Amino acid sequence: MDLLSLVGMATKRRSDYFSQAQTLAKKYKSQPRLEERMKAESLGLVKGLRDKLMKWDEYQRTILDKTLVSALAACILGIKDDKTDRKLEKCWPIIVGDMLPPLVKFLAETKEYIDSGVLRLGDQTVDFADYNLLGAVPGAIDLGVDEIEGINPEEEGVVEASQGRAQGKTWPSLADRLSRYLATPTFSFYNLGQYMVAQDQGFKEMRRVVTGDKKMCIDCKNYGEQGWVPIGEMPMPGKGCRCHDRCRCFIEYR
Ligand SMILES: [Zn+2]
Ligand SMILES: [Zn+2]
Repeated sequence: MDLLSLVGMATKRRSDYFSQAQTLAKKYKSQPRLEERMKAESLGLVKGLRDKLMKWDEYQRTILDKTLVSALAACILGIKDDKTDRKLEKCWPIIVGDMLPPLVKFLAETKEYIDSGVLRLGDQTVDFADYNLLGAVPGAIDLGVDEIEGINPEEEGVVEASQGRAQGKTWPSLADRLSRYLATPTFSFYNLGQYMVAQDQGFKEMRRVVTGDKKMCIDCKNYGEQGWVPIGEMPMPGKGCRCHDRCRCFIEYR
């Protein structure tokens, strides 16, 4: 599916997504719980595809829906007040712009792996339970974000490719990769929701507070050192840093 038709489908279903997101936010109540839930769903979807419980078209459509609904739900959790709708309207184009272009690429790659037999439908040779999902592939080096600090994204890609991980060339690594659309971005979108509130309340400055642990990447460290900047002049956690969706910096306003 190309980007235009994906955006077209998403736009048509927007009000559905908004009400589904409200339900999801009400049910899971906090971003970490929402993220856990979406990780479980990523695994369930990939298993469903592998075990032929789900056809490709349904898989693809479900992922589109869940990517958008979980991002919206995360924004709702960040907004936390009664003027949700107006702020959510402002989040929507950002969600679509951030998520759909890489999603199109990701789905095309997955389809290619299936068509070329890299991923075999019905392949039961690997038990998902053997994997520390959604962690590393057994036997591979457990490469944490802290360990890839300082190397550029191309080198990082090569390392991940050699492990067959990030590329989604095994069913478990595909589940891991899918969670990076459905689950981990909820943190950034939760922050986006909070940003909409801060902007509304007239805060003038923002700063990115780094976690300070060894998982912090060099970009986040630099943002942390910049201190207070005018509101809107610093990217949300997960944007503009090489830890991407795994970034767990938070933003303060004043
Ligand atoms: Zn970072
Ligand atoms: Zn960070």
